[in-house]
Amino acid sequence: MRRAMVMGGSWAGLLSARVLADHAEEVVVLEPDTADDPGHGAPHRRQLHALLSMGHTQLERWFPGLTDDLVAGGARLGTGPALQYYLDGVLKPCVPDNTMVGATRPFLEEHVRRRVLALGNVTTLRGRARGLLFHGDRVVGVRFSASQAQESDATVEELDADLVVDATGRSSRLGSWLAEHGWAPAPTDRMQVDLGYATASFHRGDELPGTVIAHAAPGPASGYQQHLSEPAGLVAVEGDRWSVVVVGYGDHRPGREPEEFLRRMKRCVAPLREVAENCRMEGDIETFRFRESRKRNYSRLTRFPGGLVALGDAVASVNPAYGQGLTLAALGASSLSAHLRSGASPRLPAWDHFRRLAVVVDAAWQVSATADLAQPHVTGPYPPGYRLIRWAGDKVVEASVLDPMVNREFMGVVNMRKHPRALTSPRVLMRTARVLARR
Ligand SMILES: Cc1cc2nc3c(=O)[nH]c(=O)nc-3n(C[C@H](O)[C@H](O)[C@H](O)COP(=O)(O)OP(=O)(O)OC[C@H]3O[C@@H](n4cnc5c(N)ncnc54)[C@H](O)[C@@H]3O)c2cc1C
Repeated sequence: MRRAMVMGGSWAGLLSARVLADHAEEVVVLEPDTADDPGHGAPHRRQLHALLSMGHTQLERWFPGLTDDLVAGGARLGTGPALQYYLDGVLKPCVPDNTMVGATRPFLEEHVRRRVLALGNVTTLRGRARGLLFHGDRVVGVRFSASQAQESDATVEELDADLVVDATGRSSRLGSWLAEHGWAPAPTDRMQVDLGYATASFHRGDELPGTVIAHAAPGPASGYQQHLSEPAGLVAVEGDRWSVVVVGYGDHRPGREPEEFLRRMKRCVAPLREVAENCRMEGDIETFRFRESRKRNYSRLTRFPGGLVALGDAVASVNPAYGQGLTLAALGASSLSAHLRSGASPRLPAWDHFRRLAVVVDAAWQVSATADLAQPHVTGPYPPGYRLIRWAGDKVVEASVLDPMVNREFMGVVNMRKHPRALTSPRVLMRTARVLARR
């Protein structure tokens, strides 16, 4: 390709640019924000971000040696016992080969941005996409304007491209832009979850030297009741800090008050209590309200223009409590790469990309939706066979607290290394039955 264009220069946009740099003479990343603006970027970037182990693998694939750079810059790399997952207050068995990089989202993204811009054929363009340029049934470029201009009086410019990527995040307007030209928008699934997030930083000293992540969630033993089993997490990040998140659904949403934040931490598992009692909170508490998970099903369309793909939150934005978003975007970039490397013409509809992406997006949705539906205030939509899925899922979760083999499979799914169907394999179900019978 002569030129590929990426709309959105955050996580998914940067990873797309990395992939496209292998296939286009020039890659232009269009982004309204600049990294130099204080407080730039979407507000959710300031919340605790955990990178699942599959996401870490994908990052190393696209940026070999990135982990070493991150660690040299102060990120923490943890394996096995450094990664502690509690369910209903009980520490789950260790998964020895599990790894995680502890870093904040801006730090991770800045390292990725530097690597992408060092490629030589990727440039950034400051501006906001306003629509698409079409030629017949193909997208041939992007209409854009200055970042801050109001849409009505903005001077619109155009840039042609052989392939356009939508990486504009969960508020993507791709559906309306397609509709303006007579194309149907993707059918969209939604689930109302009404989740509240609050993240704070604490100074990190030599308390908890063997911990990179401690994560606490309610499970079957508490009936998934957040007031019985406080959901929260902490990650050791660059700058000798703990990034700590407390979360709550509906009326249990956390606020910005430090006293309330500390009270929640002290009701939680030992590592959270320890940090609340011994470490100094630094800076303000950032809150974020996430009302619904959203999934745009491009693979279900029967018509789609050539020269256009989408990935990242622009396709699926699922409940962040399960930490899947960064990994989904990285897998989306790898899906785009597989599509282009297959020799498919970028001028034709990218069905192969959308079908491959749907496999991981649907798997992530299945994991998050099944867990969300356990919350009393989440009322659907229920997937077919939900009662049975939920019953079997609860049994596997119970067994995962007791048994390293079941937990290994379970964490493989949580870390997106395995498809959720791995948890219903005869091997896992038999082992689950044996573990629970022995109990
Ligand atoms: C509270 C919270 C906590 C989270 N925690 C985790 C976690 O622990 N682990 C994890 O993996 N994921 C987590 N996520 C999810 C993760 O943040 C998203 O999946 C990730 O941001 C997706 O990246 P993206 O690039 O697709 O979208 P975004 O990060 O939203 O970026 C979209 C970009 O597009 C730009 N843009 C928007 N409109 C236009 C336009 N018209 N033209 C050009 N550019 C445009 C924006 O300026 C922005 O830079 C969390 C999300 C939330 C809300």
